[in-house]
Amino acid sequence: MTTIAHCTSALLSVGDELTLGHTLDTNSKWIASALRDLGIVTTEHVTVPDDLPAHAHALRRLASKVDLIISTGGLGPTADDLTRQALARAMDDRLVEDEVSLAQVRAWFTGRGREMPAINAVQALRPSRAAALQNLHGTAPGLMAAIDACDVFCLPGPPGEARPMWASCVVPRLRPPQGRTVRTRVLHTFGIGESDLATRLGAMMERDRSPLVGTTASGGVVSCRLRYEGPLPPEEADALLDSAAREVRARAGEFVFGEGDATLPDAVLGLGRTAGHTVGVVESCTGGMLGQMLTEPAGASAFFVGGLLTYANAMKTALAGVEPALLGAGAPGAVSAATAASMAHGGLERLGVDHCLAVTGIAGPGGGSAAKPVGTVWIALASRGRDADVRRFRMSGARSAIREWACKAALAMLWQRLSGVGPVKLLRQDQP
Ligand code: AMP
Ligand code: MG
Repeated sequence: MTTIAHCTSALLSVGDELTLGHTLDTNSKWIASALRDLGIVTTEHVTVPDDLPAHAHALRRLASKVDLIISTGGLGPTADDLTRQALARAMDDRLVEDEVSLAQVRAWFTGRGREMPAINAVQALRPSRAAALQNLHGTAPGLMAAIDACDVFCLPGPPGEARPMWASCVVPRLRPPQGRTVRTRVLHTFGIGESDLATRLGAMMERDRSPLVGTTASGGVVSCRLRYEGPLPPEEADALLDSAAREVRARAGEFVFGEGDATLPDAVLGLGRTAGHTVGVVESCTGGMLGQMLTEPAGASAFFVGGLLTYANAMKTALAGVEPALLGAGAPGAVSAATAASMAHGGLERLGVDHCLAVTGIAGPGGGSAAKPVGTVWIALASRGRDADVRRFRMSGARSAIREWACKAALAMLWQRLSGVGPVKLLRQDQP
């Protein structure tokens, strides 16, 4: 290790599976975000194949530019795992056997009732001027070294091994620049378009503001990122972000369902548990996906009771008690306000819940008509002692996108009811 501050960093991902597009480089995502939160700027993400010259060259080039390199991958026992050699070459060093590592690799196997295969011995090699980092979740030890004035940490590729090693071996050794604070906050919205959110945020999004405010849209969730970077002490930076977050809520609060890692299912589960309520679902075009989403968060059983999967009309009648007259020729039909409401009321009674969501629609690609084009989805929310909330959406995109959006819109309707913001028109809703 050097003694310099780690102001700038680069990430190096190693492996043919990454350069050939078989595996997505997810390590760089969480490492970059962890460095960002520590106030260490990442200036480059580089990916190299399992190729010794390319790998060593990348290490040397990056070492001449940044204070810190975090590499993942290439520490396995096979001939294509070349991080040990590449690091040695970049350091002008030779490989030696690390006795402690060898004992640890061997112990990893004996602890599982196996003898260490001979090829795993190479995992105990390290450049003579590097140190090994213990891996408690796999066989590959990590490496820590310096290439000239740059500190280098090499972690195993599997995220389940890299993450704990990052936390226990790397973070305690990092030296973020002093006197500079970086703080971030994310608020998540659903049901408002990115441009509409940006319009509401107005001057808050100007690029010379502090904190800096940005938006990103993914799967219908539009997130608002707040970022402070500057000389304020952390508590003052947090206070600044608190006030900016309050301002975001003042401008678009009826769409803000959560912060940080919170998802829509987390948000409705939290509200449902607090209220001591239960929920059920009656699903047609979403085929169980809504129930699946509601059971994603741990602790879902305190809120979610179950659902009726009523894909065919006969099942809408048999399971949810929808009148056949609603479904016949000339009737409103399976995709209609009346049927959605009937499904929701049927579920409310038969499942014995406080709230019931029902979804019926045309996910496509076939089955659309002029009156009911593909993407037409009716969602109803029935709740004890309340009028039903019944809405029509015109969704677009592929079948999978329509089905996913329908589930999220249903969750957003439930969130609006539980949070008390009342029925607020959602993006892609066209009735009422
Ligand atoms: P390694 O043997 O250390 O090269 O690691 C190989 C394993 O780690 C493979 O299962 C990869 O799918 C996974 N892996 C390697 N690099 C990454 C990365 N950057 N992001 C996510 N997974 C990775
Ligand atoms: Mg590899």
